[in-house]
Formats: sequence, C-alpha cells, structure tokens
Amino acid sequence: MTTNCFETLDPRFQRLFVPTAQLDRLYTGCRWAEGPAYFPAGRYLVWSDIPNDRMLRYDECSGAVSVFRQPAGHSNGNTVDRAGRLVTCEHGGRRVSRTEVDGRVTTIADSYEGKRLNSPNDVVVKSDGTIWFTDPTYGIDTDYEGHKAESEQGGSYVFRYDPRDDSLAIVADDFVKPNGLAFSLDERTLYIVDTGRTHQEDGPRHIRRFAVTDDNTLSGGEVFAECTCGLFDGFRLDDAGRIWTSAGDGVHCYDPDGTLIGKILVPEVVANVCFGGPKRNYLYICGTTSLYAVRLAVNGAKTF
Ligand code: MG
Repeated sequence: MTTNCFETLDPRFQRLFVPTAQLDRLYTGCRWAEGPAYFPAGRYLVWSDIPNDRMLRYDECSGAVSVFRQPAGHSNGNTVDRAGRLVTCEHGGRRVSRTEVDGRVTTIADSYEGKRLNSPNDVVVKSDGTIWFTDPTYGIDTDYEGHKAESEQGGSYVFRYDPRDDSLAIVADDFVKPNGLAFSLDERTLYIVDTGRTHQEDGPRHIRRFAVTDDNTLSGGEVFAECTCGLFDGFRLDDAGRIWTSAGDGVHCYDPDGTLIGKILVPEVVANVCFGGPKRNYLYICGTTSLYAVRLAVNGAKTF
C-alpha cells in the first residue's frame, strides 16, 4: 500500500511514518548529490555535488542553500565526528580529510603502505575515535567524479584509521566495490555495502554484516540484504537499529532481521541519506540532482 511517498511492504513499517507527511524537495541543480552530514549545533546540512566539485550547505532554519566549499576535492561521503567536526571522503584528493574547528582542512589518510588510496567513498567514526572508510575506484575510473588514474592499491578495501597511533589498517579485502557503511547501535556490528554490480555483470549489490571484535577487527561478513531495485549506496540507522538505505527507487527500510519492510518513494535515484533536525526525525535524502527531506515517526540513531 502506498500513502503519499510511503510504500508499506510489512505491517511493521506502518508505525514508522505519519501518513500525511510529504517528501519535500529542498534544492535541485546538482549532478550527483551525495554524502549528507547534519550538524545539530548549527542546524545545517552539508552535502557533496561530486561532478560539480562542490559542497553545499542547507540552512534548516531559513531554508537557504549556499556553496559551502568549491573546489571541494570532488568530495563524496561526509560524516560528523564525536567532536562535531566534518570528516570528508575526497575523490579528487584521494584522501579522507577533516575540517578542524579553526577551519583548516587536514589529511586523515591518503595512502596505505606507500601507495595512494583509490578514492575514498564513505566514512563513519566509531565512539572510540577510530575512522572507518571504504576505498573503491569510482573517483579514478573516469574524470567525471574525480581525476582518472590507475589504482595503486590493486584492490578496493575497507580501512580503519586509528588516531591513537596514527595507523591505517585494512579491515576487509574481499569486496568488489565497498561503498556505504554504518555501525549498529552498540557498535558490535558493522554493515557495509558492496556495489560491485557497477563493474561486474551479476556482481554484488548487497549489504554485508560483520561482527566487530574487541580489537577492532571484523569477522563474519554474511549478506544481510540484497537490493531489489538499483543499488544500495549509503545508509543510516534509526534508534531501533533499522536500516534506511538508498536504492534505485528511493529509500528502503530494513528491519534488523533483514526484512525489507517499506520504502520512501523518491522520483530520482537516491545515493545517500542522513537523519537531522532538532529531534533527529527528519530524513535528508540526496537523490541525483536534488536534496529531499521527509519527517518520520522515528528518530535517527544518536552518533555523538
Ligand atoms: Mg557511496
């Protein structure tokens, strides 16, 4: 059943939305909108427009949209760390960077064992300060989303950066194209998307689930969900551990048991989402040319 933009596939989805709530298009004019990150202290959202090499900022109070940074190193995924700082994956810079409280942009990681990273795609920060990111080749495959180049890594890995000893480690090396990632509420599970279908016929288009060990390594890695329309890219969790993920026809909502329980239908291909608003009950949606938002009856997971 579809009510406004909400399609219910399982009765459990029914109580997660308000039937009269609408999908708002807040901005349009991007080429590929990605990487939304919400700053509660300033009530604004920063996101990436990768091919246009710029980051935009949506002011939640006034509704104004302005350029936040341009050029922006062909930024892709963004997140906010526990200290409220912007952490950014840059295709062009082939690095993960951080915008410090004084405005300087510093490098977190740009190489592994002397070889340049491919093009970091998406990033999350764990409560212990470690920074976890994926490094597929989308930003070096063509000049559209970065700068065309050969991969120096020879693979597409998932990395963990540890600020305590300034070390970078591979935590998963069996992905075709690792992409979006997020921790469960207790950080004992890490979900990671593989969008390998873009490069391999019948390649993966799923979310895998890993157990996070006490020493910050991963085990397991079984498939949690297969995408039923287009590809998963980025995703976030609500405060009950449900996954709200991008897909070809909008946002798909998965119960923690792996059931696709409902969708938010969006008129463009969706790349990524994040929760925002003073109560974390707005879902911001980056959909190809546009930024959308919808108010839900659930709240996003508290990540700092
Ligand atoms: Mg991505």
